[in-house]
Amino acid sequence: MRALIAGNWKMNGLTEDAKALAAGLKALDGQGESSAELLVCPPFPYLGLVAQQLAGSRIALGGQDCHGAAAGAHTGDTAAPMLRDIGCSYVILGHSERRADHGETDVQVRGKAESALAAGLVPIVCVGETEQERNAGQALNVIARQVKGSVPAGMEAERLVVAYEPVWAIGTGRTATPADVVEVHTEIRRLLVGLVGEGAQSVRILYGGSVKPDNAAELLSQANVDGALVGGASLKAEDFWAIARSA
Ligand code: PEP
Repeated sequence: MRALIAGNWKMNGLTEDAKALAAGLKALDGQGESSAELLVCPPFPYLGLVAQQLAGSRIALGGQDCHGAAAGAHTGDTAAPMLRDIGCSYVILGHSERRADHGETDVQVRGKAESALAAGLVPIVCVGETEQERNAGQALNVIARQVKGSVPAGMEAERLVVAYEPVWAIGTGRTATPADVVEVHTEIRRLLVGLVGEGAQSVRILYGGSVKPDNAAELLSQANVDGALVGGASLKAEDFWAIARSA
């Protein structure tokens, strides 16, 4: 399966940073050295700008969240059809920072994923345990609860991406061991088969959490690791590209 390397820019940078990063990525894309599918998810105010900058490249555009409704009285929110309209093909949903900062629940994440699918976007549904949960031996239970609660049942599997992002590995420089990654990704695959059937074999399961140029190749070569969701390292075009080349 073709790997997906997704960059989550989070709430970083201003206009000039977004322009420079997009220009850097487009220039590297021109060298054509990665066979992976590439995606960047800039902050909402810069989506239009980055869409223009990346026109003609192979790099896809995604949002970092969307609302569960297609339109309406939801001040400050962004609807999935708006993301589609501005040129997005993906949207990150249920990132642990949104679950923590905004109290997003599995039910809400599933509603957002349904809205994204209805708008023609591919949802990237994020799941992952906290350090406390892992230390308590609860990692797989937490993942099971999140996957079953957040993934729309009965959907077309090829239109879904799941990202395993252990909360304790995000932005910390610590990564899960390859063995832990394989254990969780294999369990996610098994859970997805239960939810969407055998088509789940084609769902891409990304790993996220301090992926860097120097650890990407090892993580990406593990069974059931079909790409990466990259935060900090996606803010440097060269680093993001180095990760993409490892896929
Ligand atoms: C993320 O926020 O999705 C992420 C994986 O961040 P980082 O790569 O910085 O750990």
